[in-house]
Amino acid sequence: MRDDTVVIAPCGNYEIAAVKEALRSAIGSLNGFDSIRRGMRIGIKANLVAAGAPNTAMTTHPVVVTALTELLIERGASVVVGDSAGGPWTLPYMNRIYSVSGMQSAEAAGGELNRDFAEGDASFPEAVKARSFRYTAWLDGCDAIINVCKLKSHGMMGLSNAVKNMFGTVPGLLKPEYHYRYPNPNDFADMIVDLCEYWKPVLHICDAIVAMEGNGPTRGTPYPLNLLLVSHNPYFLDWTAAKIVGLDVDDVPTLQAAKRRGYLPDRFENVPISGNWKEYAAPDFERILNRNSTLFSETDTLIGRMTRGFMTAALGAKPAVRKKQCVGCRHCADICPAKAIRMENRLPIIDRKACIRCFCCQEFCPVGAMQVHRSPIAKWINR
Ligand code: SF4
Ligand code: SF4
Repeated sequence: MRDDTVVIAPCGNYEIAAVKEALRSAIGSLNGFDSIRRGMRIGIKANLVAAGAPNTAMTTHPVVVTALTELLIERGASVVVGDSAGGPWTLPYMNRIYSVSGMQSAEAAGGELNRDFAEGDASFPEAVKARSFRYTAWLDGCDAIINVCKLKSHGMMGLSNAVKNMFGTVPGLLKPEYHYRYPNPNDFADMIVDLCEYWKPVLHICDAIVAMEGNGPTRGTPYPLNLLLVSHNPYFLDWTAAKIVGLDVDDVPTLQAAKRRGYLPDRFENVPISGNWKEYAAPDFERILNRNSTLFSETDTLIGRMTRGFMTAALGAKPAVRKKQCVGCRHCADICPAKAIRMENRLPIIDRKACIRCFCCQEFCPVGAMQVHRSPIAKWINR
């Protein structure tokens, strides 16, 4: 039977020998190498959301990917590393990200960086939301997938970790369209859980040696947590990661979706964990708390809709531009799936009625000028 324990593996730096030993020990304790056989082609699904250097904590650190690549090759497997970023699903675009994020080290270790940019169409009748979807076809060539995510705060989803990382199986520029198709955070979360269930990675590894707090998932601040988390169960892993950074199920729509499906136990104490998570708790980690966004989203009565409208307008997090930081590149306007941004005098103006609060503009602003804004009362309620 699969061991669903979440292993907390202390690791104080990105020294390759230390990371490799921490991974070897954690994966071994779960018998996680048993599913890796000689001759298999393993897809490492990293987080390569955008072109960020390793010290920005924007992407999975290359040393984690490289150490895992070496361990898999030692077992006779071949390795391909990939992800779809929030831009064109093309070789030049991804090459730049491979280069800036330092992923060539995985290639130097004998792995391969994905250069297959074909797309496929999936049918998944058992899904709650994503019964059909388009995906990055490089995953078809893999005998098994290992999900290697980065622990980051996230404007829309509260937490970017194992489950959220599977949204990177949707080709780049289609992602804003999926935000538009599922504007309700609960629906969006259900869609991502569907993707996670469809691909069913054989193992989930969270790089939290240095996590990202604040204005994540691309322009937040690096925060050293000095640990790796490893599990066969992405929902248990995400709940553990959430608790460590001061979040809980109500703060993370993908965890709520998992709870609705019965994937989580009633109490966190019933999640099997190897290691004492409280030793790593980071009470000062800057979180994006936005419970109001989902609080009334299930209510479809007139009063429920009115309440939701009021709560969202008054208390929901929203994107806001820091004018002094903005360089007028109009990237936010181009990527906005709701066409809610127009440029005036090289500054973005947001149509609040059209905005679906997907935070694509915040995620992909190249200079961090677009931020998650919460009113003082929302901060007080969500404190
Ligand atoms: S993407 Fe950022 S820098 Fe560019 S126009 Fe929008 S807010 Fe300004
Ligand atoms: S303005 Fe930003 S948050 Fe609002 S819909 Fe557009 S991209 Fe999404």
